[in-house]
Amino acid sequence: MNQNWHATLIRHLLLLITVCLIGGLVSGYYGWSLATGLALYLGWTLKQLLRLHDWLRNHQPDEAPPDGYGLWGEVFDSIYHLQRRDQRVRGRLQAVIDRVQESTAALRDAVIMLDSDGNLEWWNRAAETLLGFKTPQDGGQPVTNLVRHPRFKEYFEAENYAEPLEIPSPINDRLRVQLHITRYGNNEHLMLVRDVTRIHQLEQMRKDFVANVSHELRTPLTVITGYLETLLDNVDDVNPRWARALQQMTQQGSRMQTLLNDLLLLAKLEATDYPSDNQPVAVDALLTAIKQDAQALSGPRNQKITLEAVPGLRLKGSESELRSAFSNLVFNAVKYTQDEGTIRIRWWGDEHGAHLSVQDSGVGIDAKHLPRLTERFYRVDSSRASNTGGTGLGLAIVKHVLMRHRGKLEISSVPGHGSTFTCHFGPAQLANGKA
Ligand code: ADP
Repeated sequence: MNQNWHATLIRHLLLLITVCLIGGLVSGYYGWSLATGLALYLGWTLKQLLRLHDWLRNHQPDEAPPDGYGLWGEVFDSIYHLQRRDQRVRGRLQAVIDRVQESTAALRDAVIMLDSDGNLEWWNRAAETLLGFKTPQDGGQPVTNLVRHPRFKEYFEAENYAEPLEIPSPINDRLRVQLHITRYGNNEHLMLVRDVTRIHQLEQMRKDFVANVSHELRTPLTVITGYLETLLDNVDDVNPRWARALQQMTQQGSRMQTLLNDLLLLAKLEATDYPSDNQPVAVDALLTAIKQDAQALSGPRNQKITLEAVPGLRLKGSESELRSAFSNLVFNAVKYTQDEGTIRIRWWGDEHGAHLSVQDSGVGIDAKHLPRLTERFYRVDSSRASNTGGTGLGLAIVKHVLMRHRGKLEISSVPGHGSTFTCHFGPAQLANGKA
C-alpha cells in the first residue's frame, strides 16, 4: 500500500474534471457540469468524513473501520493500525504494571509512596496489615495523621532519614515495625516498613537476661564482699598471711559490684526510649559537683581540673542519667590523664543548641579505635584499663543517655596529646526560662 497518494489524488481530480468536461461537451453546459461533478465529489468526501467520525466515536474496541475507497480507505486503515498498535503497547504496559503490583502485593514488607507533602499516593497490601492503611479511603491523607506515634512525627518532620525508626505498629501494640524512608524524584518519599517483632523480642530477651542475671548476682556478691570486709578488719585474729589475698578479693568484689551496677543502669536505659522525667536540669550545678568528685578521685595525682559553665543554661531530661553520663566522661579524663595533667570542662550554648566538652591532656586515643569506643566492653588497651578499674561500659552508658536526650557524642583525640569528648544537644532539648 505504498502508493503515492499525492499523484493518485491529482489523477482522480483530473479524471473528475475530464469527465465533467466531456459531460459539458455533450450537454453544452460546461460550468454546470463542472459544478455538479465537484459538488458530487464534495458530497462523497463529506460522507466519508462523517463515517470516519461515527466510527471513531462509536466503535467497539476491536471493531474494524468501515470500508473506504481510495485515500479515505487508507485513512481508515492507518487510524485502525495506529489504534491497534497503541492497544498492544498499552496491554504490554498494563502487564508490567500488573506484575509489579502482584509482586509488591505478595511482599511481606510494606511499600508506601508519599508525595512531597507527605500525603499517601500508593501503598501495597502489607501496608494495610502492618500500619492499618485503608484502601482507597486513605489516599491523599497525610501519613502523620495515620501513623500517630509521636516519635514518627518527630522523625518524619526532622527529615533526617539516615537511620531507620522502630515503633510499635499503630494498629497492634504487639507488632514492632521498622521504617526506612528514602527520598526520590521531586522530594517524594518512599517508605519501607518491616515487621521486626521477632528481632525485637530476641533483643528484649537478651536485655532481660542481662538485667536479671545482674540483679540476681547482686545479693550474693553483697554478702561475699561484706564477709570479706569483716575478715579483712579482723585479719590479725585469723591469719595475717591472708591479708593480701583478702585485700585483692575485696578489690575485685567491688569491681564486680561496679560492673553489675553499670550493667543494671544500661539495662534501665535501654528499657525505654526517653527518660521518664523531663525536668529542667541545672547543668552548671551538676558539673560543679562532678568537678569536686573528680578532684577527689584525682587526689594526690594533682591534675588541674577547670570548669567554665554558663549558668542558667538548663537541659530538659533526667538529672541522674545526665550525672552518670557527664561523670563518666570527666572520670575517664582523670583516669586516662597523667599526673599534673590538665582537664578542662566547658558547658556553653550557641545557635545549634548546648554543648558540653571534656578536654584532657592525657594519653589520647588512636583514630582507629574512635568508631568502636562506645561499644560495650570495648577497650583501647585492656592491660591499662584493668589498672584503672574501669568496667568498659562507661562510654556505652554515655551514648545511651545522650540518645535518650536527643544528643550526640563527638570524640576527637591526638594520641599522646589528649582527647576531647563533646556532647551536643539540639535547641529543642533546652529548658527555657531562668534557673
Ligand atoms: P572504661 O571503664 O574502661 O574506662 P569506657 O567505656 O569508659 O570504659 O571507655 C572505653 C575505653 O575508651 C577505655 O578503655 C579507654 O581506653 C578509652 N578512653 C575513654 N576515655 C578516654 C580518655 N579521656 N582518654 C583516653 N582514652 C579514653
